[in-house]
Amino acid sequence: MLDPGHAGEFYNASPVVEGYFESRAMWSLAGKLKSALEKRGFEVGLTRYSINEDPALTERGRRSAGYDLFLSLHSNASSSPLPDAPWIITFSNDVKTDLDENSKAVGKALGGVISRVMGISDPFYYTKSVDFDRDGNGFIDDEYYGVLFGAKSVGVPGVILEHGFHTNKRCAEWLSSEDNLTRLAEAEADALAKFYNMEDDLNEEILKQIEKLEKAVETLKSRLDKYDKMKVYQNAAVRWAYVDGNLPEWAYSTVAKLTRLGYLRGNGENSLELSELMMRLLVILDRAGVWD
Ligand SMILES: [Zn+2]
Repeated sequence: MLDPGHAGEFYNASPVVEGYFESRAMWSLAGKLKSALEKRGFEVGLTRYSINEDPALTERGRRSAGYDLFLSLHSNASSSPLPDAPWIITFSNDVKTDLDENSKAVGKALGGVISRVMGISDPFYYTKSVDFDRDGNGFIDDEYYGVLFGAKSVGVPGVILEHGFHTNKRCAEWLSSEDNLTRLAEAEADALAKFYNMEDDLNEEILKQIEKLEKAVETLKSRLDKYDKMKVYQNAAVRWAYVDGNLPEWAYSTVAKLTRLGYLRGNGENSLELSELMMRLLVILDRAGVWD
């Protein structure tokens, strides 16, 4: 389940790059990531299907119910123009479930990819929990971030991806390019495909296709082979070259007779160059008494 960060076209403007808005860029990234993942065999939902729809934070997290993962897409902000590292915010430690381990593992799988593709500092991994029982389950085990709190409440590992800082000029410029967002989406989809072993499925699919193709090529080859033999037969002026055992029995006496009489002399290279059609004609003429 993909959560395209904040609602609206013009939410969280970059103070250093005119025209960059976190809400608009992450809406675009979510769409690109959705199709990149679907190409790799994932089933992908969005927490909202219009740029202006604005469900509450915990509700967005809860909309991941039934999915394997909740990913919230953002770019970060700082009062300093310097920070550019991706922040990967995962579930905080919880000994009761393995949701936190899963959340951290997915985060790890994506953090380095974001740094590399965007050409920014190494990822910073982060968790934040609250010190009160937010969901009333009797444990102090609740996430600070509303979307992660929501995802955890429906048993889905969640991760917030902060794609660098839009308060950093180079970062905001990079994120302003649709081509870059496409590259980012493809790289994240690759990392997720690897993480969920979707590549194996894809490889298997490709191998099946290759096998089918090989069979088709075999069939084609044997057909061509037959066709080739037919062609040879049709074009064969020389099928029975010698007066020997390979002559059909019905033609033997006629061919022997015409050779003896000197009518058939061959081509000077020890071949009579007789096709089946020619022999049939000769035999018919012979029966008609032409050479008696
Ligand atoms: Zn944000």
